Formats: sequence, structure tokens, C-alpha cells
Amino acid sequence: MALMITDECINCDVCELECPNSAISMGPEIYFINPNKCTECVGHFDEPQCVQVCPVECIPKNPQWIETNDQLLEKYYTLLTDNE
Ligand code: SF4
Ligand code: SF4
Repeated sequence: MALMITDECINCDVCELECPNSAISMGPEIYFINPNKCTECVGHFDEPQCVQVCPVECIPKNPQWIETNDQLLEKYYTLLTDNE
């Protein structure tokens, strides 16, 4: 599953820099996670880095983007290839 940022976000900016996939960016009002780029940090880290740093715990799993661990790993490899 990709993760998502809820409207409890206080725009503290810390998660954007932590994302290894550059999946987080500022939206019209709050930060936003691009589900096509979020691997839940699979391939990079054991834990989602954005969740680790968010001071208000506003980054749950996105129920619209149900993915298995294998699918997340596949996304990780696809993103690596895209960045070459
Ligand atoms: S879980 Fe990882 S890949 Fe997904 S948005 Fe957070 S830091 Fe980025
Ligand atoms: S760390 Fe949490 S509160 Fe801060 S910008 Fe990211 S989602 Fe918003």
C-alpha cells in the first residue's frame, strides 16, 4: 500500500526530505504523497521514513492503494530504472 497524508498535516516540511523516492511534495494546502512513487520505503528502509519523522502522526496507509510487499518491491525496481 502507498501511504497518504491526512488534513491533520501541519506543513512542518520534515517528511519531504526523508522520502527516498521523492514521493512527497507540497500540494495546494498540505503535503501530498504520490502513490505511484511511494513504496512504503520497501527497498530502502525497514520502516516508512515519513511516518518515523511526522510529529503529528498524520500518515496512514492509503486504502485506495492496496499493494502486496512484492508489488511494492516491483515498484521500487521500476522507480530505480526510471531514474537511470
Ligand atoms: S513511506 Fe517511504 S516512500 Fe512512501 S512517502 Fe513515506 S518516505 Fe516516501
Ligand atoms: S511530517 Fe507530517 S506534519 Fe510534517 S509535513 Fe509531513 S505529513 Fe505534514
